[in-house]
Amino acid sequence: MLTRRTFLRQSGTVLMGGLLLPGRKPGPGASVMTVNGPLGAGQLGFTLTHEHVMVDFIGADKTSPDRYQAEDVFNTALPVLRSAKERGCAAFVDCTPAYLGRNVQLLQRLAAASGLHILSNTGYYGAAKEKYLPAHVYTETAEQLAARWVAEWEQGIEGTGIRPGFIKTGTDKAPLTPAQQKIIAAAAIAHLATGLTIGVHTGNGAAAVEQLEIIQKHGALPSAKIWIHAQSEPDAAYHVAAARAGGWVSFDGVSPSSITTHITCLQNMKREGLLKQVLVSHDAGWYHVGEPQGGHFRDYNCIFDTFMPAMRQHGFTQQEINTVFVENPARAFATGVRKSS
Ligand SMILES: [Zn+2]
Repeated sequence: MLTRRTFLRQSGTVLMGGLLLPGRKPGPGASVMTVNGPLGAGQLGFTLTHEHVMVDFIGADKTSPDRYQAEDVFNTALPVLRSAKERGCAAFVDCTPAYLGRNVQLLQRLAAASGLHILSNTGYYGAAKEKYLPAHVYTETAEQLAARWVAEWEQGIEGTGIRPGFIKTGTDKAPLTPAQQKIIAAAAIAHLATGLTIGVHTGNGAAAVEQLEIIQKHGALPSAKIWIHAQSEPDAAYHVAAARAGGWVSFDGVSPSSITTHITCLQNMKREGLLKQVLVSHDAGWYHVGEPQGGHFRDYNCIFDTFMPAMRQHGFTQQEINTVFVENPARAFATGVRKSS
């Protein structure tokens, strides 16, 4: 097991007293927004960039905090988060959006109890045939939707004062539906107003291309976007093109059965000199609202126990591991408007 202390010792030059030393660091003064407020991006540390505490798959019209006991979710998730922290995890990006079980107060409690930095999000998820889109998506403009998300950034989420750390959205495979196109446009508009990075659940490589076209058409740079679930696209040429354009490519879904796939994805990006655009995470957790005791809750340990050792076996250096898990997350989630001139 890799403890935080071991990790820091092995990482050598990168993390000293929580400061990012020379390397690809975020700009001076760059910060990320956690559920406990702003944090210097260099203070984020080892980050799992795509995980979930809870999800409610009932649908946008039926989801409600009345469907679960927050105390039960808290008690289920806390030991699993602590286990990741013991292994060297310092920060955790919760990717559950509104209408799918987002509960920022629960995340704030878990951050305090686990000692992890936790980020939540604003935005809507349009994949799964739009089952998780609220009705107002169909009557409002992209500008109106963006205004709702900007309000969460400026005033906090649902009266809590807790602010989002990124914009989470999503589409199915290409071609995008009109509603999916609209929420991607809204995400670009909201990015330009807030500087929050846009994480997009993406059906396939062609959808990633279409999303990027919309984002660029609205004046934001590719570096404002994270292509979530890039490992689902088997043609690595899409990964390379997205990263060469300056976008973030997220190979999440790491599990004991995915090690070979994920190592292959990373080897390809390394060969192309694009590791600095890559994010890796488990897409695990998932207290399933509606199932007894939340059903099976997947832990966040595989990257520490299995994947990083596999990276070393395949010749990845400690510096490269730091690039993927420390430096890239700090740059990807640093708030800042990335606008085309
Ligand atoms: Zn996810």
